[in-house]
Amino acid sequence: MKKVIIRKTEEIENWRRNINNEINFIPTMGNLHDGHIKLISTAKNDNSNVNLVSIFINPLQFDNKLDLENYPKTIDNDIKISFSNGADAIFIPSNEDIYPPNNENIKFLKAPKKLSSALCGLNRMGHFDGVCTVVYRLLNIIKPKNLYLGEKDWQQLLILKNLILRKKLNVAIKSIPTQRDFDGIPLSSRNVHLSKNERKLISFFSSELLEAKKNFPQDKKIDLNQIIKKLLAKKISIEYLEHLHPHTLQKARLEDNISLLAGAIRCGETRLIDHVFLMKRRPIIAIDGPAGSGKSTATKLIAKKLKLLYLDTGAMYRALSWLMIKENINYKKEKNLQNILKGISIVFKSNTNSHQDVYVNNYCVTEEIRSQKISSIVSKISSIKEVREFLVEEQRKIGESGGLVAEGRDIGTTVFPHAELKIFLTASIDERAKRRKSDKNSKDSQEIDFHTLKELIKKRDFEDSNREISPLIKANDAIEIITDGYTINEVVDKIIDLYYDKIPKEAEIK
Ligand code: C5P
Repeated sequence: MKKVIIRKTEEIENWRRNINNEINFIPTMGNLHDGHIKLISTAKNDNSNVNLVSIFINPLQFDNKLDLENYPKTIDNDIKISFSNGADAIFIPSNEDIYPPNNENIKFLKAPKKLSSALCGLNRMGHFDGVCTVVYRLLNIIKPKNLYLGEKDWQQLLILKNLILRKKLNVAIKSIPTQRDFDGIPLSSRNVHLSKNERKLISFFSSELLEAKKNFPQDKKIDLNQIIKKLLAKKISIEYLEHLHPHTLQKARLEDNISLLAGAIRCGETRLIDHVFLMKRRPIIAIDGPAGSGKSTATKLIAKKLKLLYLDTGAMYRALSWLMIKENINYKKEKNLQNILKGISIVFKSNTNSHQDVYVNNYCVTEEIRSQKISSIVSKISSIKEVREFLVEEQRKIGESGGLVAEGRDIGTTVFPHAELKIFLTASIDERAKRRKSDKNSKDSQEIDFHTLKELIKKRDFEDSNREISPLIKANDAIEIITDGYTINEVVDKIIDLYYDKIPKEAEIK
């Protein structure tokens, strides 16, 4: 594809007509550094869309004229950097192009009060209104599929997410973690103005934040006053330092697993912001839903892509049922049940095909637990109070330090009610029976006729949804995905997008 530079809004329309792909849009104000390069190259590697970088210094988001005048302008170098890192087109509009005088179609937007009055909004009047106005204008001109933004400007990212929702725009935000320089300070176009001494002070500020992040999983709390004291001792002037909920920007609550520690400092004329995400434990994804909804396949792929532990809780109920049948146990007799629960060990081990095997008391039962015999008894056994108490406790032990995606029937409601992302995966009964029929892991299902299989699944659904203890229901805060008509990869991508909507990319970076 021929690389182009577009300077007029009208030319974008022509250019768009001639490309046969969706657009990845990377808005910038120029003076590109490694942070921008990461955005451009991430867009290039993400998909086969066309990548458009815009370079426009938006006057509306500067509350200080001098700051606008002094903003570094390096256009020739920016063009080179953009093209050599994956841009297919560069849009360099003029002020008149973006804000044509007397054009009544230009909408001057206001950022939502709740998000824009916190943090930077306190001291930068109108800044986020200007950001919303220019991005809305650019999105309407360019009509991209994806918008690439850095998590460095986290508050801006939240405000733009809100803008896209509010205006019902069909654009997905893709974010990249804050890129840091050799001395730990976040890369920023404004860093060129820093003196050696200012850099040192800012580096101290960033290292304090990074230290807090490192210690948080053990400490589980943060002492803002202590950090403030240390900064003041270095004569760093603090505009704000806050511990907040990462999405609402309200004060962090004790029960929040992920929170935001954000600050702004001033060194001479320069103002600098930095933040870190604090996590008590790694994130948890809970995926619940009826049999055949695609849970297992999706959950395994998600675990692989997000490098999370995969926990198949259904396999645990099946494993216990297998042992009961093997030992000929009458589960209605409490004593027998207690003995079994006392002695059982259920362990998952990765096998050479990078799948998981299930072991009951050191015996591999991976295949046997998928038989129709087990499927027909497992719902009865899983409705027993003692069984559920025992297995829920085992599951919680596995998930103690987070970093897992668990599938089952009661993960979001009972096992991990504080999971960061809860999905309720479902599909029509016909679709689910079809999937089970072609499931290679379920040989018995392949041999039963379609109608009988459908009735068996319905029966199991009924038993799972109507038992007394933690029945299969959608948690209040779960997102329902009906998978009829979607490929498994589409479902996985959707869940991964939802995950990154909740978990900032940089939260997991050490
Ligand atoms: O997911 P799978 O179909 O293998 O689960 C088998 C059975 O185990 C379910 O039908 C249900 O009775 C039980 N189960 C449960 N709670 C879970 C997971 C599975 O009751 N969290």
